[in-house]
Parts: sequence; structure tokens; C-alpha cells
Amino acid sequence: MTLTRIRTAAFVFLVASTLGRPALAQSGDLDPRIVNLVGNVSEERLSNILRKLQSFETRSSLSSTTSTTRGVGAAREWILQEMRSYSPKLQVSFDTYLVAKQGRILRDVEMRNVMAILPGRSPRRIYISGHYDTVARPGGQSTTNAGGPAPDPDARPAAPADPNAPLDNLAPGVNDDGSGTALTIELARVFSQSGIDFDATLVFMCHVGEEQGLVGARLHAQKAVAEKIPIEAVFNNDIVGNDKGGNGIIDGASIRVYSEGPEDSPSRSLARFVQRWGGRYVPSHKVRPMSRPDRFGRGGDHSAYNQLGFTAVGFRESRENFVRQHDVRDTFEGISLPYLAQNARVNAAAAATLALAPPPPVVTNERSQPQITRAPSGYDATLKWTAAPGAAAYRIFWREAWGVDWQHDMMVGNVTTFVMPNIQIDDYVFGVAAVDAAGHESVISAYVVPPRRPTS
Ligand SMILES: [Zn+2]
Repeated sequence: MTLTRIRTAAFVFLVASTLGRPALAQSGDLDPRIVNLVGNVSEERLSNILRKLQSFETRSSLSSTTSTTRGVGAAREWILQEMRSYSPKLQVSFDTYLVAKQGRILRDVEMRNVMAILPGRSPRRIYISGHYDTVARPGGQSTTNAGGPAPDPDARPAAPADPNAPLDNLAPGVNDDGSGTALTIELARVFSQSGIDFDATLVFMCHVGEEQGLVGARLHAQKAVAEKIPIEAVFNNDIVGNDKGGNGIIDGASIRVYSEGPEDSPSRSLARFVQRWGGRYVPSHKVRPMSRPDRFGRGGDHSAYNQLGFTAVGFRESRENFVRQHDVRDTFEGISLPYLAQNARVNAAAAATLALAPPPPVVTNERSQPQITRAPSGYDATLKWTAAPGAAAYRIFWREAWGVDWQHDMMVGNVTTFVMPNIQIDDYVFGVAAVDAAGHESVISAYVVPPRRPTS
């Protein structure tokens, strides 16, 4: 392409984007209501929640349910009442399942997720979650990492003499996953007291049974499929409260976000969204997206949602201390409150932006083919998408087709087609996000080549 042609192309973009543009907030402006919401995350409240969770001594899904002060029964009741106390707008309930004895579930057991729903204007749902159940076994995760006697990366508690007896050994689980649970509970408070009228419905979910194989998350995801509950995004927080690696390396200024592929999958797009918007509202904290579902040999509740087709990402602390995982040493002393609070702020900023934005535009047609062509000349890029309800404009993104991060973006008007002259569609990845009149931007929908079926 000659220099003249490049200039012409740039001019066409400029005209197109100026003509169609409504009176939008300045792009890049932060929403003062979200700034305020993010600022309301309280280290002191996180601290109080963590100390309370530790006081139950164990929250194993197989522990006692009869005591009012110890075990999973007391813990779930406290979480329920605590979230109920925040706002009459929050609909707090148990999400209960009867689970038969199998695998790591040593007896028939009733499992209860604790769920707080903050209804929005639309039924589309955004989840912020952690798991409140715990496990501890001799040697903990450090022994497992060193190839010790427990080969299973997750919990495999020693079978008690009586399999029907509650599993009541000490398992404080303050970081795994008291940290994600405290973050979820605190954001239930901050969001429900914000006075913001969100478009999406927010769900603050404390899962159970994670240590037995993502049981609570899997059962809820199955229910969502059966009942056609429109879950748009799941933010799973599991082990997000410690910034001191067991090897002595400290990093209190970043958080890892894991997501299932392939590279432009909705979950990867959600991870990029967290990086983009978490980074804008909390610039003092670095979001590090990871192009893999989770750490080696480790798992988390977001994968249960992924497996049923939902969009979900997993937040993980920057440096782990395995000595304090799945171990009686997972106590309050292992928590950095400033670090946990920063991770809560990143979650809050991204979830609030997502919940205020329109849903993402659909870029595929009814045959699931991407709506991208070389029209009109045969050498141009023509992008089409289906209008998103509530959108006042769209933002186009593109990058060379060898790379992870978007390189260019441009606001276009309230249109559903856009032509980029002399741009070879085969050389770039394109995406489009819906933007409302106040500038809230959706997750980016990418135009991807569908996987090819093997030919015989
Ligand atoms: Zn965990």
C-alpha cells in the first residue's frame, strides 16, 4: 500500500467515525460512580470477615452441620445472614443440592452454595465468586508439590473409621478460599449499597464442595443450563489474599487471571476486559492475564462453568505459599489485607463496568459464521454485527494475526457495519465492543475462523 493510500484510508476512518458518533462521554473517562464504588472496598471489613471465617475452625463440605459455632453448617448460616444484613435489594438464599456418596464425597451429603442476587434491569448475569469450603490434610499442598504421599492435587482426606461421621479435623482455609469468599461477601456489600442501577444482574456466589471436585459450581452451572439462566461472565477468586511466595519472593502489586482458550474465546476476551478496565480504575495494581485455564495440576470453580459453555476466568494471587495451602497453617497470619483489597478493587471495577455496559455485539450469523468479508472491492475489510440492546456506539479493535493484545481501536457510530478500505482481513484479528451513551464498554466480540472439521 502506498503512503497516499494509507492517508486516504485513515481519512475515511476519521469521517466515518465522526459522522456516526453520538454525544458520548469522552472516551477514556472513568465513571465517578465506579470510582466511588471501588473506593468503598474496606480492608477492615475484609479482615473481620476473614477472622470470622477462621473462627469456624473447619468449613469442610463434609464437616458438622449441627454446631452453631463450628463447621460448615455454622459457616454457611453466618455467610447467609451477613449478606442479608447489607441491603434489602440483595436476594440471599441457599442454593442446595443433595449429593450422593462418590469419589472424594465419603457419604451422602447436602451441599449448599450461598448466593446473593442483586437484580439489574436485564436478566443477564455476572458472577463474582469464591469457595467457602476448606480442606486440610497432613503435609498440605507443599508435600503434594514435592511429590509427597498425596498425589492428588486437590483434597483427599484420610477416610475416617466411620464414613458417616462428619469430617471435623481443623481446616481454617483463610486464604484457600476464605480470601475469595471474603472478597465476594465484601463486594456484595459494596455493590448493593452503591445506589447504582446496573443493567446486568450481579450474583455474589460462595461455592461449596470445590475441594471435592468443583461440586457446588458444577451443580449450579448444570442448573443454569437446564433453566436457561443467562450467565454472561463468572469471576472466580480462589487464593487471592497472600503476596509472599513460599520461596521468599514478594509481589503485592499484581494479580494473575487465568482463562480457557482458544485465543479469542469469550473467556480470553473476558480476561482482556479485566486487564483493560481493572487497569484503568486500579492503575496501581497490574492485571496479568494467563493464556491457560489454570496453574499446572491445579483447578478452580471457573473451569466447571467453562466445561458447560459459560464464560469464566480465575483470579490467582501473584506468588503462592504452598506450605499454607490445604494445611492447618492456612491462617489469618498468612493474609496481606492491602493485597486482598487491591484484588477486590480490580474485581469491582471490571464487574461494575461490565454490568453497566450493554451486552457484547454478536458477530456471527445464524450459521455461527463470522460476519466478516472482503467487500465491497474484494480487498477491503467489512465487519458486520448484530446490534446490542442499549448500545449508543461501537468500538472496533484490531491487531496483527500474530499476537495477543489488541493494537488499535477506533470508536464508530451507532452502526452495525463498518468498512476498512484496503485492509486484508486475513492479516488481522478484528473485534467489536458495544458502548453505551455514558461510555461503558462491553467485552469485545472477536471475529474468529471457526474450527475446521476433519475431512475423510
Ligand atoms: Zn481453593
